Amino acid sequence: MIAENLLKIQQELPETVTLVAVSKTKPVEQLMQAYEAGQRIFGENKVQELCAKEELMPKDIEWHMIGHLQSNKVKYIAPFVALIHGVDSFKLLKEINKQGVKNKRRIPCLIQFHIAQEESKFGFDMDEVLSMLSTSEYTQLTQVEFRGVMGMATFTDNKEQLRTEFAYLKRCFDELHSSYFRDETFNTISMGMSGDYKIAIQEGSTMVRIGSSIFGGR
Ligand SMILES: *Cc1c(COP(=O)(O)O)cnc(C)c1O
Repeated sequence: MIAENLLKIQQELPETVTLVAVSKTKPVEQLMQAYEAGQRIFGENKVQELCAKEELMPKDIEWHMIGHLQSNKVKYIAPFVALIHGVDSFKLLKEINKQGVKNKRRIPCLIQFHIAQEESKFGFDMDEVLSMLSTSEYTQLTQVEFRGVMGMATFTDNKEQLRTEFAYLKRCFDELHSSYFRDETFNTISMGMSGDYKIAIQEGSTMVRIGSSIFGGR
């Protein structure tokens, strides 16, 4: 089933959209089924689980940290993580930079924006990002590689609301891309999950994070 689900989703995705297979809570045997079907990018939301799976699985996998990340846990993933999606505070960025220095690598990150109506979700708003970018401390973050933005929409069936929230994230990306991050490496808009990825793609997503539609419910 997992291989079939993957193929079906991959066929629907435009070539410009990268699929992150969200494997949280799922056992390694199921991840291996996805791996054998060709999937190489996996997303996890807990540091401990991410590290355990990274040790057990083939080394050509790109591991993405997609959940809320506590500063004191960055050190465990810093040696290998391919992309941190949920960067939601200046404090966290400073710690990622510090671990990048220690590991002699630039760590790829996405700036998480708060796009949902729910208070519970994490992320910056534009004013916070702009004020961070204007500090001198920010200019010292040489070991952070800014690749783009990430957001989680409200948990709702209301398609127009989802569309509005995704469109807002796309505008945030465009604004940062045109005024601060002009490099080609700043090219990622991570938005869209099992329930809403089609709308996210219509609104400009370049990276979708899909779990239950591949691996089944949790
Ligand atoms: C769990 C999770 C997903 C995937 O959710 P599904 O609905 O299972 O596709 C995507 N992004 C984040 C941040 C998640 O925590």
